Amino acid sequence: MNHYDVAIIGAGIAGLTAAIYSSRAGKSVVIFEGEGIGGQIASSPVVENYPAYSEISGMELSDKIYEQAINLGAELEFDKVVEIIPGKKAIIKAEYSEYTADKLIIATGAKHRHLGIEREFDLVGRGISYCAVCDGTLYKGGTVAVVGGGNTAVTSAIYLSGICKKVYLIHRRDEFRADVELAERAKNISNIEMKLSRTVSRLIGDDKISQIELNDGEILDLDALFVNIGQVPNTELVRDLLNLDESGFIIADESCKTKYDNIFVAGDVRTKVARQLTTAAADGTVAALA
Ligand code: NAP
Repeated sequence: MNHYDVAIIGAGIAGLTAAIYSSRAGKSVVIFEGEGIGGQIASSPVVENYPAYSEISGMELSDKIYEQAINLGAELEFDKVVEIIPGKKAIIKAEYSEYTADKLIIATGAKHRHLGIEREFDLVGRGISYCAVCDGTLYKGGTVAVVGGGNTAVTSAIYLSGICKKVYLIHRRDEFRADVELAERAKNISNIEMKLSRTVSRLIGDDKISQIELNDGEILDLDALFVNIGQVPNTELVRDLLNLDESGFIIADESCKTKYDNIFVAGDVRTKVARQLTTAAADGTVAALA
């Protein structure tokens, strides 16, 4: 069985950054990835908030970080991990391979919760976005809507109100889950219009979204719809192994340590306040150094 000093599960920004730091420290490193390099960011057409790049596609950014990790000696195993057996030498069983490692970094990320309505996937990148900070400026001066009532949705609406002419904030209840202070701020911004106790029932537009229909039949003209209805962490693998919070994220503080001495967690799959590229990179760094 192959043995590595460090095994990293997930080749998103957190995992790749952990690979860079671990490799530079002279460790042998294997990164497991079952889907695609870059994680969630790989599908973002434009990234404008990663230091040193005023504009870069998510795919290109991921490729650059991946290349950097591989050039430093990290190895990629394109295989889906199916089981982890903790121990002094953790055993990592993937679909087609099996390894042991002294240290394990879980960086499996999260996926945005989807609305689950027709044409949602077709229109991603064509008016449907899950990240206002990533894609908001593409709709400068336009009309957009945000769905959700948590801190992410309200923060997005406030952020977009500074860029766009008009922002609808659509929430399924008449009370926000977001912090009261934040919700009050949004309510007092003149170009944010609340659509409470409403849901989105239909997406309209040919090549890109141009309108949405709400469940009361109202049609809104818009240029983009930002879906911010929470995230679903990718924790299937560690559900019975590590402690999860009530939303399913792996509990670990800023040290990225879990209840096992040699298992660390980095990036969006960890309990945290800000889930951004920069904070994922920071976690990868901290986990590798730890
Ligand atoms: P969240 O707190 O889980 O909120 C998700 C929102 O989406 C809720 O309002 C929920 O409605 C709504 N929702 C869920 N499923 C829906 C569906 N199928 N259709 C329509 N609406 C749906 O998620 P989040 O806002 O992404 O926040 C995640 C965590 O990050 C939270 O702990 C949050 O506090 C934190 N965060 C903090 C900050 C900050 O600045 N401190 C910023 C962003 C995020 P209900 O309310 O009816 O359930």
